[in-house]
Amino acid sequence: MLESRFRRPLNEGDVLFRQGDVGDSAYVVESGAVEVVLEAGPRPPQVLARLGAGAVLGELALVDRQVRSATVIAREPTVLRVITREYLDARMDAADPMLRHLVHLLADRFRNVVSRLAEVQPSVVADARDAADRVSALTELALQQEMEAALERGEFELHYQPIVRLRDRSVAGFEALIRWRHAERGMIPPSLFIPAAERSGLIVPMGRWIVQTAGAALAELDAVQRRGAPARAPLFISVNVSARQLGDAALIDAVAGAVARAALPHRLRLEITESALFDNIDQAAEFLERCRALGVELYVDDFGHGHSPLSYLYRLPVSGIKIDRGYIADLGRYPASAKVVGAMTGLADALDMSAIAEGIETAQQCAMARNLGLRLAQGFFFAPAYPLAQAMQYLEGPDRAGSWGRLAQAAEG
Ligand code: C2E
Ligand code: CA
Ligand code: CA
Repeated sequence: MLESRFRRPLNEGDVLFRQGDVGDSAYVVESGAVEVVLEAGPRPPQVLARLGAGAVLGELALVDRQVRSATVIAREPTVLRVITREYLDARMDAADPMLRHLVHLLADRFRNVVSRLAEVQPSVVADARDAADRVSALTELALQQEMEAALERGEFELHYQPIVRLRDRSVAGFEALIRWRHAERGMIPPSLFIPAAERSGLIVPMGRWIVQTAGAALAELDAVQRRGAPARAPLFISVNVSARQLGDAALIDAVAGAVARAALPHRLRLEITESALFDNIDQAAEFLERCRALGVELYVDDFGHGHSPLSYLYRLPVSGIKIDRGYIADLGRYPASAKVVGAMTGLADALDMSAIAEGIETAQQCAMARNLGLRLAQGFFFAPAYPLAQAMQYLEGPDRAGSWGRLAQAAEG
């Protein structure tokens, strides 16, 4: 296990900090166990709590800048995630002054109560320390801090899943999907960090990086396609955008920059879920009109998965829908699902929109989607999301990327 600014390994018996030390970090126990010990002068030390994986410690000194109120010792080999004062300060500075004041007030009060209780009833203190909401809040803070550093260090990468024509399986474009190549934990899928990036707002700078990177990748993929099959229609690239990004004016600048640099009009697409669109319809409308003016098209992601009224389909400038993979998985399982997918395809046709089937995993789903009138699809049956080099190989001939495909799919689990 590597030691880093954000990770602290301890051997059994190591003291993390001593009562009275000045504190500059809080910790989340990732594995192992520590004991929180109160050293009370001539009396024998009292064990206030034994904390295992997921527990948080040391956060009080971080907030109120006072010394540590107890000593913490590792009772077995332990790994801690570190939340630094710098990071917390930056978050506190950005917070509402009223909230900041309240946090300090509460920290003071908590410390007073704890020191009085510790004398009379140590077990109550232990219980208070285990409060689940504090644990999850600080675990989240640790994750956010790690993600910010990862973005600076360039640990995020985009992979590209081919979107193919069902007619001949030629590649029409790619969807860019983010992954986090973590030094210790390997490849982390977006479901484990995008929600936290949305809550913390990190999705905003991350989103600009995604648009720039995807734009540059399109230029490279295009060069491969032009060499191999110059007569084919130009490729497109599709980028996922979440609700929080709709209010980011700088994202429009990033989009405009990508379009200008790679001469991309009508080839950069954004995918947004229906709930993100409908829940922020005014903001979405403004954002999308500005994207449209740049020649960027909007696709509704996970179509049919949300519970929004369909009016956004004509109230917003939508170019197409991506039929949620749940419906595709049901093809062949429930006869009526073919009718639903057929009706969605018909709705797209009637509105002059394009429809893409997501999550095709079998030859049967592929044949059914085609018979239902769908022209474009993506899914593991064709290819998983590849790193850029393998996406380029796939364009040269799916067989050349085939072995990569199976490897990548195995890696994605
Ligand atoms: P999504 O936009 O619906 O992306 C499609 C997901 O389905 C991807 O998972 C893809 O790997 C997976 N998939 C593709 N083909 C198949 C298949 O045949 N079967 C199955 N079972 N799954 C398939 P991934 O990459 O883990 O992404 C999950 C979600 O994370 C995405 O769902 C999207 O909501 C979000 N996400 C990914 N990249 C980004 C990003 O760059 N920005 C934002 N804001 N969100 C992203
Ligand atoms: Ca998507
Ligand atoms: Ca989707």
